[in-house]
Amino acid sequence: MAETMKAIVYEGPGEMIVEDVEKPMCGPDDLVIKTKYTSICGGELHTYRCGYGQEPGRILGHEYVGYADEVGENVEGIEVGDRVWGMEVGVCGECWYCQNGDYANCSSILDHVTGNGVPGGYGQYLRIRNAKLGENVHKVPMDIPEVHATLIEPFGVGADEVAGNVQPGDKVVVIGCGMIGNAIIQFAKLAGAGSITAVDVSEPRLEIALQCGADHTINSAKEDVLEAIQKIYGPNRWFYGESGRCDVAFETAGVGDTLKNAIDCVKGGGKVVLVAPSERDVNINLAPVINKQPQFVIPVSGNHIKDVIDAMEKGELVIDPLITDILPYTKAAEAFEMQANPEKGMKTLIQMDAE
Ligand SMILES: [Zn+2]
Ligand SMILES: [Zn+2]
Repeated sequence: MAETMKAIVYEGPGEMIVEDVEKPMCGPDDLVIKTKYTSICGGELHTYRCGYGQEPGRILGHEYVGYADEVGENVEGIEVGDRVWGMEVGVCGECWYCQNGDYANCSSILDHVTGNGVPGGYGQYLRIRNAKLGENVHKVPMDIPEVHATLIEPFGVGADEVAGNVQPGDKVVVIGCGMIGNAIIQFAKLAGAGSITAVDVSEPRLEIALQCGADHTINSAKEDVLEAIQKIYGPNRWFYGESGRCDVAFETAGVGDTLKNAIDCVKGGGKVVLVAPSERDVNINLAPVINKQPQFVIPVSGNHIKDVIDAMEKGELVIDPLITDILPYTKAAEAFEMQANPEKGMKTLIQMDAE
């Protein structure tokens, strides 16, 4: 009989169930990783709340750190016991996009990605097929604390969002100060942003944003965002109405008026970086969009993992305030509830090897 392990299985909205499942086998080209910690991604919260993007029965989890447990004979540069993070990304090879060589748009790409269709870090073990060091697997130096290393992937998203979008001296506004917002603040700072304003409805999150390097904060539950940004950077009338002066706005919240806030805050022709998927339709008046001509950017993810590991090793990132809770996998349901509460949880880590 095949060996089994514990995994937190997504069984539908509101249901993260601990189950016994088959432990992955290691083929000659594969790497099997023993998971240490996995943190809950904002995207997974969308799934947890409303089923976004996933099918029941899947083992999610892409924000994790673990140790090489079995290394296939053809895998180079990785030894049993190495601390690693990896993500398998594949394509179907058959759909219209794949047939046309546009693999990034493969219609079933998510079926072939770790923590989506490929079982991920909510299992006590996970497998990366065709493991290649520096490509789909990265070694994580032992001098980075384990809990910090768990956040390599979400910090990577922050780095992806900032890369090429922030120039030295830029006025930057970050709307939404969850994990990704705070990662963006830090990488914007490293990219030389002149001033960063953080916007959120949660006072504790704004406090953390300041620790992460924000220069100003706006509590959008208490203040009008456009008025507040004008107070900080000065008024700015453009031909269609009032505006902010920001060069770049990052929209990481994906709720209600946050996209409007982002468009309001940027100068005419400014950049609006779209980060968060929203759970509902967003109503937006197109007049300011068409007349103000903001440039909308949707960055490609997954290119900056190595930069994050380097920044963590150099101690350039503020990480401790982002980790609010650590729970054993046996309390998965509780962990998701904690993560879903923005007043309390910033990042909830799940310890996958807990006894
Ligand atoms: Zn994520
Ligand atoms: Zn395809």
